[in-house]
Amino acid sequence: MTSPDRNSTTVGKVYLVGAGPGDPGLITLRGVEVLGQADAVVYDYLVNPAILQHAPSTAQLICLGRHGRERVLSQPEVNAQVVSLAQAGRAVVRLKGGDPMVFGRFGEEAEALKEAGVEFEIVAGVTAALAAGSCAAVPVTHREHASAVALVTGQEDMGKETSTLDFDALARFPGTLVIYMGVTTAERWVRQLIGGGKAADTPCAIVRRASFPDQRRWLCRLDEVGARIAEHHIRPPAIVIIGAVAQIDDGLAWFERRPLFGASVLVTRPRGQAESLAARLRALGADVGVEPAIDVAPTDDWSDVDRALERIGQFNWIVFSSTNGVDSCLERLRYLGKDWRAMGEVKIAAVGPATAARLAERDLRADHVPETFQADRLADDLAADANGRRFLLIRASRGREVLAERLTAAGGSVEQVVTYRSEDAPPVAADAIEAVRRGRWQWVTVTSPAIGRSLVQQYGDALAAAKLASISPVTSEALVGLGRPPACTAREATMPGVVDAIVAHRAENPE
Ligand code: SAH
Repeated sequence: MTSPDRNSTTVGKVYLVGAGPGDPGLITLRGVEVLGQADAVVYDYLVNPAILQHAPSTAQLICLGRHGRERVLSQPEVNAQVVSLAQAGRAVVRLKGGDPMVFGRFGEEAEALKEAGVEFEIVAGVTAALAAGSCAAVPVTHREHASAVALVTGQEDMGKETSTLDFDALARFPGTLVIYMGVTTAERWVRQLIGGGKAADTPCAIVRRASFPDQRRWLCRLDEVGARIAEHHIRPPAIVIIGAVAQIDDGLAWFERRPLFGASVLVTRPRGQAESLAARLRALGADVGVEPAIDVAPTDDWSDVDRALERIGQFNWIVFSSTNGVDSCLERLRYLGKDWRAMGEVKIAAVGPATAARLAERDLRADHVPETFQADRLADDLAADANGRRFLLIRASRGREVLAERLTAAGGSVEQVVTYRSEDAPPVAADAIEAVRRGRWQWVTVTSPAIGRSLVQQYGDALAAAKLASISPVTSEALVGLGRPPACTAREATMPGVVDAIVAHRAENPE
């Protein structure tokens, strides 16, 4: 009998979700949606942990160990765990690498759910064969070369008397063969395919960690697969694409040609602000880590800010020195029951293009943005007509004094308010520091002087193992003062500017 309240919150549900091959961008929208509502996520070791960011921070995360490392739960243990979570009323996401229905042991898990009367939904994913095809530029079908594809397991006949795989038939298969889980068993299935009549010189592509930043691809003949695996110490996960389609034009290898393929970059912006920079780096092929060096938090004393905002219309200029300043100031204005009409005739200056862009997102146009991003340049521009003018500077607790000093000296009256605090992030873990020392990250981004100071303080001499990418001349100057000159400085002081600077540095200094 089915329960009448299957969809009520008291009865859980299991979502079997394909996480895709590894690149966190290759999960489906539906997958992200159900992850966002998960109470518990049970995931395989092959799943990229970056995907877990879509789960609520309160969700219970359960990793099923990797062979040879942690204890591996048996299939019945996994089933029992998933079922008991669902029966406790949880929304459980069972995340599997690739597509859950391709070599995913779905039958056993689904059977257990069915028996326990637990409702479930299956969300498709990008399977490894197809991801490898796209990311390694091997078309698994081709008008001239292959009209069919077979997905084949390389682990089939372990311990069985007779294989259920008919290698003679597979050898004759009129299309592309893609072997999953075939790394450790390559010698055997290669022999069986050739024994079945497959030409020894059939082109093959071995693709390891398809779609990950460290994806590798090797092209060889079928009878060379075992030797290649041994020679390059190729370990799982890898798949082997066999057929004429593997004989591709090298000019198509787009993945490895991206400007930051092979680069590793540690992003040190505050949590919640790191992602735009990280995503841009990742899209260009970089291996990206995030380890915030500072935190930003709203000020804990709004009294000065409120006093200034109450009479904001009386200033001649309001100057924003960061996107955080724009956000916190405008949110506070709204909190006070006001909107931009309260600003009256006040002119708006932004320290750089990113700050101006944030103003624009909030329907405010900056009257002045200096051509080169520098507080000094902004000071020059505004000082020219400062005499008798009233300025309101919106700044961070650790901002610089240059602007206020220059404007006062030029006869302006200056009021400064702190709307947010920039403070050191919680101490970086010792193993993260060791990783930097060992050269795990070729690059570390430094997107403000405060971040530079915090990095030098936290990482000490370990920082010397990485190249520093600085966002602006002011930041570079601070780094020089700290004894850690940057390898490059962004030409435009924006996150894309930092990315461009790393790309340009790599182009000029090939490894
Ligand atoms: N359900 C998964 C397959 C699970 S079997 C899917 O649809 O992709 C595990 C095997 O998948 C690995 O041994 C390897 O052969 C292959 N695989 C998974 N991810 C891979 C990746 N990123 N690159 C290459 N092969 C991968």
